Amino acid sequence: MSDFISRIEDIFAPNGLLSQITPFEYRRPQQEMAMAYAESLETGKHVIIEAPTGIGKSFAYLVPAILFSKEHNRKGIISTCTINLQEQLMSKDIPALRNILPIEFSSEILKGRNNYICTRRLNATLMRKSSLFEDHEQDELQKIYSFVQKTGKGTKQDFPFRIPDNIWTQIFAEEGVCTAKSCGTENSNCFYQQAKVKLNKADLIILNHYLLFTLLGFYEKRTSGYLYADDFAVFDEAHMVEPIAAENVSPSVSREMIRFWFNKLYNPKTGKGFLADARFDVMQRQLKKLSDENEIFFEDVKTVIYNLNSRFAGEKMIRIRQPINMNEHFVVSLQEFSADMLKLTQRARNDDEENEIKNYHTKLNALKNTIITFLRQNMDGHVYWVEQNQWAHKSNMTLSMSPINMAEYFRENIFTDDKCSLMTSATLSINKSLDYFKCSIGAEHVDGLIMDSPFNFEEQMQIFIPKNVPEPKLNPNDTLSSMFEETAYEKSLKQMIPEYINKTKGGALVLFTNVKMLKKIHTHLLKEFDGSDIDILAQGNGMPKNKLLLEFKENENSVLLGVDSFWMGVDVPGDSLRNVIITKLPFDVPDHPIIEAKIEAIRERGGNPFLDFTLPGAILKFKQGIGRLIRNKTDRGILVILDSRVITKFYGKLFINSLPECRINIE
Ligand code: SF4
Repeated sequence: MSDFISRIEDIFAPNGLLSQITPFEYRRPQQEMAMAYAESLETGKHVIIEAPTGIGKSFAYLVPAILFSKEHNRKGIISTCTINLQEQLMSKDIPALRNILPIEFSSEILKGRNNYICTRRLNATLMRKSSLFEDHEQDELQKIYSFVQKTGKGTKQDFPFRIPDNIWTQIFAEEGVCTAKSCGTENSNCFYQQAKVKLNKADLIILNHYLLFTLLGFYEKRTSGYLYADDFAVFDEAHMVEPIAAENVSPSVSREMIRFWFNKLYNPKTGKGFLADARFDVMQRQLKKLSDENEIFFEDVKTVIYNLNSRFAGEKMIRIRQPINMNEHFVVSLQEFSADMLKLTQRARNDDEENEIKNYHTKLNALKNTIITFLRQNMDGHVYWVEQNQWAHKSNMTLSMSPINMAEYFRENIFTDDKCSLMTSATLSINKSLDYFKCSIGAEHVDGLIMDSPFNFEEQMQIFIPKNVPEPKLNPNDTLSSMFEETAYEKSLKQMIPEYINKTKGGALVLFTNVKMLKKIHTHLLKEFDGSDIDILAQGNGMPKNKLLLEFKENENSVLLGVDSFWMGVDVPGDSLRNVIITKLPFDVPDHPIIEAKIEAIRERGGNPFLDFTLPGAILKFKQGIGRLIRNKTDRGILVILDSRVITKFYGKLFINSLPECRINIE
């Protein structure tokens, strides 16, 4: 064992440094995880670790990361999915370690540059405010300026009021506008530069997956390090890296997006915009024509889609399976206009104006390129689709695309030999194997570890599976009208859910896979528990998630109904949550083009889409749902599974195998 690993082992030992943090409890899995990560850092090998709830995984990676960073003068990048975890790291875990570790270290949160005001742009915008904005917007701009002057603060989150996008896009620290020529590289009056200086000095950088993958896009040609030379990265909540990375490398373009940028250049209704000056009258006329062409273009796309299949009319999301053969007149005009924009740099009055012109040119080019890529579908391994809220004339429409498989992206950007990363989460394995997660991110060759849970599930939880609940699907003989009637499954839920809520006198989280069913059960439970001391809370009734969770935590007898994000985003230790009711196994419905395309790709290579994709995805989500119940060693509770397929279907045993070892009551 190396000296580094041995020192890490000591820190996590029963009487080690970590024991100075109260409350402390020696946890062997935490110590093992810290040592495994220390070895990964020393050897420069990537590693994947499933660290169940309760083992204290943030300390297990923070301690080795901090020591390694200081001793080797390399930055540690810690990326999380949720703001909650980011806040926990910055306000709780890192300060606690600062108190006990024998070295000083610094940590900073990295925000995207679009969070910072550019003081130079703000001043330039103020000078031109009457030509850029309407009166009420000019007032808003003045308010922003006064706030910055008064408080000396300049990030978007600092403002106690909302800043409209139209104004913010004109004053934030936009990359294309900020050049070394603008202010030099160390402008001490610039909020963004100040943040950069602090980040450059920091040992640990904390950021979220969304920003990391956006930044990685720009840095993809780097040969060493993710964001900084020779850095190393920890991806916590790693079960979310694949979809988030896919979202961030997938461009899209919409009719509204184009309208927005055209209006910023010149809005003929208000006479305002960057090109409002009379010297740009030719460009204004060109833009008016281009705006009309934008409307025609999207109506034409709609017609082409309708001609492909009239059934598409009225659908919100339509997969486009072949290149769209249509007149590209708008694309050509957009290209010409963008080129003309660039020529305007010769007439720019100063550097700032020149930078803004170049920035508009870049934006327009990007929009044009996205349209071309969408129409021609010339990116291999991608799925293309159109989204629209309504089929109405001139309504918004978005053209989207996404890679079908992200494995190659991760191989090239994350798991290269010259980099070092840790992927960790409480839920990565299926049937004691990490293969599914590894394959999804191209990490087949990466070492993986599954740590033991520190909980005694035999004592802490019991599982109930009523066997007489009908299967949650329509009978093939059901008629269309019966789809709107109450199914036997729904009837059963209405009877069973109140029974199990009463068993624990509230304190229940009821997880659904679809909003319609949640609403029906919500209405039923409100009547059922009317006049009792059990309050029924439900997602989708206008209350934000954090407020719902707060109310649920404070009222120990309440019941909370949720879909999607509630399967993984609920952390309620203690008595408030003592019952998790799973209404249905969370199989993904192939109603999104990306899921449909993944399934097709598996079928094409001779695989079984259900076994290779749908089933493992459902098991992982199921595990996340179950994981809401026991959050610490003193928690006690019951898990209720109201989907009888878990005991009647051949795949049911895979769900059962993923349950913690505790008493299962099949009733
Ligand atoms: S350095 Fe860049 S972001 Fe900062 S004030 Fe200058 S132009 Fe704006």
